[in-house]
Amino acid sequence: MTAPARSAVADLHLHSHHSDGLLSPAALMRLAAERGVGTAALTDHDTTAGCDEAAAACAAAGLRFVPGVEVSAGWDGLSLHVLGLGVDAASPALDAHLAEVRTLRRERLAEIGDRLERRAGLPGRELVAGVCAGTAVPTRLHLARALVALGHARDEAESFKRFLGRGTPGHVPMAWPGIDRAIAALRAAGGVAVLAHPHRYGASGGALRRLVGAFRDAGGQGLEVSMAGMSPRDRDRLATLARGHAMLASTGSDFHDPALPWNPPGRFDKLPADLDHVAATL
Ligand code: AMP
Ligand code: MN
Ligand code: MN
Ligand code: MN
Repeated sequence: MTAPARSAVADLHLHSHHSDGLLSPAALMRLAAERGVGTAALTDHDTTAGCDEAAAACAAAGLRFVPGVEVSAGWDGLSLHVLGLGVDAASPALDAHLAEVRTLRRERLAEIGDRLERRAGLPGRELVAGVCAGTAVPTRLHLARALVALGHARDEAESFKRFLGRGTPGHVPMAWPGIDRAIAALRAAGGVAVLAHPHRYGASGGALRRLVGAFRDAGGQGLEVSMAGMSPRDRDRLATLARGHAMLASTGSDFHDPALPWNPPGRFDKLPADLDHVAATL
């Protein structure tokens, strides 16, 4: 008897509780398998700590595993996310880069806590201390959840809108290491660098073209072209950019939380047939 063919669905953007996701790497990969995913990447923010556990869970569930990470990076005043796919999770160069970014994250959260205390009358310092005690990768999403738990917002989106997003009391502009450094660290670890959710940076058509050009010139190889909740218009724009810059295309859910129904693992449209999927090169 031949083994059943593996699903062609490649979800290359998944978060576990090693960053701001809520599931363990093992539970996350079991859920991905249940949802019909055939290839799965763990892409926690600024850490590869969950990759060993995720690899074992994928082996048990018959999934192909891709070790990955989502690195915070800066370009032209924007905060960007760069996915590294197929990385060596034990690479010293990548490890050093990620440790530096995590230090910046903690400094930024402390500053956010101060501002929430001074400008919004919230117990910001205590909230941040609680978040930082519970994770090696503190994110604004952890803080958003803590604000909801204390009744300061109805949900995470409202936390961002009132306290954490641009134009709010807790907004802290960030100077992350540049995309050139992020991409160099990912490539030193043998990874393929993919620009995550390019449609979410608020960049106009021309600025997005410049960003994608700069990303490719710095050694970036792919764009995330199809994701959960993306409009057909955004997908078409990104597919056109990938074609125009001769870049690989990626697919992913950006799943964090099983209680949010809109982006379960594996939910996104197929890529246009003429694009080259990054999963085929890993
Ligand atoms: P950080 O990396 O610390 O800036 O935190 C950003 C994380 O918060 C992202 O990776 C998302 O998971 C989440 N996030 C960003 N914006 C929102 C929003 N408006 N509503 C809910 N979650 C968000
Ligand atoms: Mn996140
Ligand atoms: Mn992201
Ligand atoms: Mn993500």
